[in-house]
Amino acid sequence: MSRTEPALVLKPGKEKSLLRRHPWIYATAVAQVAGRPEPGDAVRVLGADGRFLARAAYSPASAIRARAWTFDEAEPVDAALIASRVAAAVARRDALRDESDALRLVFGEADALPGCVVDRYADQLVVQCLAAGVERWRDTIVDALVAATGCAGVYERSDAAAREREGLAPREGPLRGEVPAPVSIVEHGVRYRVDVVAGHKTGFYIDQRDNRALVARWAAGRRVLNCFCYTGGFTLAARHGGATEATSIDSSAEALALAAANERENGFAEPSTWLQANVFDALKTMLAEGRTYDLIVLDPPKFAPSAQHVDRAARAYKEINLKALRLLAPGGLLFTFSCSGAITVDLFQKIVAGAVFDARVDAQMLRRLEAGLDHPMSMTHPEGEYLKGLMLRRM
Ligand code: SAH
Repeated sequence: MSRTEPALVLKPGKEKSLLRRHPWIYATAVAQVAGRPEPGDAVRVLGADGRFLARAAYSPASAIRARAWTFDEAEPVDAALIASRVAAAVARRDALRDESDALRLVFGEADALPGCVVDRYADQLVVQCLAAGVERWRDTIVDALVAATGCAGVYERSDAAAREREGLAPREGPLRGEVPAPVSIVEHGVRYRVDVVAGHKTGFYIDQRDNRALVARWAAGRRVLNCFCYTGGFTLAARHGGATEATSIDSSAEALALAAANERENGFAEPSTWLQANVFDALKTMLAEGRTYDLIVLDPPKFAPSAQHVDRAARAYKEINLKALRLLAPGGLLFTFSCSGAITVDLFQKIVAGAVFDARVDAQMLRRLEAGLDHPMSMTHPEGEYLKGLMLRRM
């Protein structure tokens, strides 16, 4: 018996998105599974009429039943393909290396490695395998990363909720080298310690690099309030840019301890104020006390983890933005963000416009904000976009 490649045959009409090179095949689009593919195996994806559409990684437990590796029937899915994609993704970031030694080297679908995230912190790499296909090719990916970067340390942080949806257990630990101690990185002249083992995501919000630089440029002479400060990213950028004082709020004691240590390490003359509190409560208290600020950053966690949470999330975004706008002195700047994929750019702007109206202030929008250039989005996979923000000036 000849060994034929397993295949997914789609229901009639369900080939349309693949013909437009969208990489996801939903379980609801599949009519039949031919052969006995294992999780992560490459399968041929065929239209109802039998025509070849894509070769994709099979994920039997996931609502996204397969993710396309290639739309070219002549292209086999093998170690050479995976390794060349890793090398290409790393090379695409070369131009960013003088801005920071913390860069996202691989960003999933946008780099044709669906479900794979790789961040570089100095000479330490952190890998997340968040889908069955890249899980299967993990060793190949790691070898290719080491070859492309020369980094000796590779740590795995495959602990994101996305893995559960793929039927994969969380997994963490060193893939090359030892368990890393906190890594020191320098971004736009500011030094940060990154805990890649216990920190959020892979340790640091690399995606905000450009926005931290923008805050630094506008911070001179301003009194800054940084809400949801984590390890101090925007605060230290603002101090570097000449902020006269800074207050930063986060609910996490560990994050604040690292933030304060980061501040000391950068040698700023006086320590700023690090406040462990719930931002919603703290903003209320600050308003009651009649405080004002000249620059406020709102970079909350993902309030809408999925489309079902959009309404509640919208109210939460509106509440913090309304309060921040009231705390801004005239001429003050607000840098406000949402990293919820389910909140679109348009919707976020509407929410913030609603907050401006209800706060009874006038405001200008100076700029729309987004993730850095190492976080691209594939034009055929708009789901990859998540971070959005606005820079406003209170009149
Ligand atoms: N701006 C940061 C990243 C923010 S991540 C940077 O550039 O590095 C979101 C942060 O919000 C986390 O550190 C989390 O501990 C904190 N957080 C979540 N909910 C909170 C709340 N209600 N009040 C205060 N902090 C909160």
